[in-house]
Amino acid sequence: MYGRSRSLYRAQRRREEIRGYLGTMMWVVTVLCIITVAITMAVQTAKASKVIAAEAVTTDAAITDTPILLDEKNVTDIAQAVTSGQLFITDKAQERARLEAERVIIIDPGHGGMDGGCVFGDIVEKDINRKIAYRVMQKLRMMGYRAELARKGDEYIDKADRVEMANSRNARLYVSIHQNSCEDNSVAGIETWYDEGDETTDSKRLAMLIQQETVRATGGTGRELVSDPELCVTSKSTMPACLIETGFLSNKSEREKLGSAEYRDQIAEGIANGIDLYLNPKTMYLTFDDGPSEEYTDMVLDVLKEKNIKATFFVIGEYVRKYPETAKRIAEEGHTIGIHCDVHDYQKLYASVDSYLEDFEKAYDTVYEITGVEAQFFRFPGGSVNAYNKAVYQDIIDEMERRGFVYYDWNASLGDAAKKTASSEELICNAVDTARGRREVVMLAHDRVDNTAYALESLIDALPEYRMEPLTMKAVPVHF
Ligand SMILES: [Zn+2]
Repeated sequence: MYGRSRSLYRAQRRREEIRGYLGTMMWVVTVLCIITVAITMAVQTAKASKVIAAEAVTTDAAITDTPILLDEKNVTDIAQAVTSGQLFITDKAQERARLEAERVIIIDPGHGGMDGGCVFGDIVEKDINRKIAYRVMQKLRMMGYRAELARKGDEYIDKADRVEMANSRNARLYVSIHQNSCEDNSVAGIETWYDEGDETTDSKRLAMLIQQETVRATGGTGRELVSDPELCVTSKSTMPACLIETGFLSNKSEREKLGSAEYRDQIAEGIANGIDLYLNPKTMYLTFDDGPSEEYTDMVLDVLKEKNIKATFFVIGEYVRKYPETAKRIAEEGHTIGIHCDVHDYQKLYASVDSYLEDFEKAYDTVYEITGVEAQFFRFPGGSVNAYNKAVYQDIIDEMERRGFVYYDWNASLGDAAKKTASSEELICNAVDTARGRREVVMLAHDRVDNTAYALESLIDALPEYRMEPLTMKAVPVHF
């Protein structure tokens, strides 16, 4: 019994030992699990913050801390910056950019099959539409876009079905190609239709660019843009859309031109360029000097607000004190405020480096006290090099840059300070001429000049290839 009970005891001890081991092991495993989970969570959090950080950072990491927002307008810029190594971007952001770029552009050759469109002799509209559309598609593909035709052959497809197809595929753009006809056979020219009421898709800018570039490529006549909310193509589409009538088949000379492959290629070139400019716009920094002014600054702000555009105002301290509410409005509405000077007096300002700095500091403090903005940018009255500052400008620039301020001159201008009596039309012509289609334009204007304020809306409409931006540290400084 004893032996047995002893062996029983041993067995019991053994079981207890095993249970003890198991218990300890369970604890160890549990603790290990907890540690693993904690480490995984920490790593993931770190990864996530890295993702956010990486999405927010460009190579100018030290000076750029705004997140990069990918939208239809900047996706191509970003893709280019990534390819050229200027921009480091996360997989997630890259994926979003890729998906956006992969959205298809639908080119719709009007009519087809039993529906020939207008017919003059052996020239049938549907055939011309298809030939042009095919060339547009090819050109877009060569530019790197995904493009497809809404009808590939000579089949009949109802126009509502074409738009529905584009909508269901979440197409990027929809451009329909047609030919015009008029009882009066002297009527000729290129006409583009869009839906003005549709503000969400920016179809007007697409229509303007396609019209502008087609007129440019063909040397043809541009007729008025036409807004028609009833048109199936423009009203039922969920993406930016327009319809271009590339010529009048009823007009003999235009009909003959449309019969030539060379002319049709010019048209296709224009349409493709218009689409490219729409998706990959140039950048313009609208800058207004010498404000705020009693009435014109508010007019300028109203137009900018209506157009949803942000600009830059190089203000004068004296007027900020005089019109503090307007100065506050500039800041509140998201525009960039830069310093022009405190008192616009060239002689006093440029008497010495110290006189410049003293004036600047006064304007800077005024802007800060009234608007809360710590200005980073400034613009020299008269530009960085002018007749009044030759002796001191380099020393002023050196000192201002040492203090971390960035100055902007301009590379295009309305000419509204040079000639105070210039009409709005003259100002618009000056602006368009001096911008000269550059990819990055700093446009000089003055919110103290009446005709500048009156011209602004038409001016913006006259520059559809530009996306208007406020100055930020991302912009390349333009210096004389
Ligand atoms: Zn000025």
